[in-house]
Amino acid sequence: MNRAKLLVLAGPTAVGKGTVAAHIVQHHPEIVLSVSATTRKPRPGEENGVAYYFLTEDEFDGLVASGQMLEYAVVHGKHRYGTPRGPVEAAMNDGHPVLLEIDIQGARQVKSAMPEAVSVFLAPPSWDELVRRLQGRGTEGEEEMARRLATAEIELASQGEFDHVIVNEDVARCAEAVVELMKS
Ligand code: 5GP
Repeated sequence: MNRAKLLVLAGPTAVGKGTVAAHIVQHHPEIVLSVSATTRKPRPGEENGVAYYFLTEDEFDGLVASGQMLEYAVVHGKHRYGTPRGPVEAAMNDGHPVLLEIDIQGARQVKSAMPEAVSVFLAPPSWDELVRRLQGRGTEGEEEMARRLATAEIELASQGEFDHVIVNEDVARCAEAVVELMKS
């Protein structure tokens, strides 16, 4: 069987990457969404191994040292997040397209390690709309929101590095545009 595609979906905080990714796997069960590892603590309702693999700093160090991370980065200046390599390789070799929902630093690393990967930047319709979505989510305090918006400003400036830019105005339409790129 042919090795399937790897698509990296990146974009600023609260742009809706998680919602788009969830929509994709719900409607296209053949697509595998990579479960990332992180050193941040779980939010209420987040299950280990589903939302993320929640690791200690030492456990994360171990995966990095043994070369088991396809990419990893400190995101929003605080916690580390990374993509375990094994499940991604296994799914692709089994013919399943793989979706990575990661930050921009990670997207750059994946592109340089695997130039054949397709990179997509999910952009908000406007800056004001991005702020509104972050505030509306209500999961971060003032300080964390300010940190995330500072990162978002830098991230928005990097969209030209991506193979494709998709504006997230409508989740379903956006998801189908991404799926199209994974299968073409
Ligand atoms: P959150 O803490 O809100 O779940 O995620 C924060 C940020 O971490 C998001 O922008 C998300 O894209 C990014 N992220 C999640 N998993 C990974 C990963 O495996 N690698 C990288 N580089 N970033 C990730």
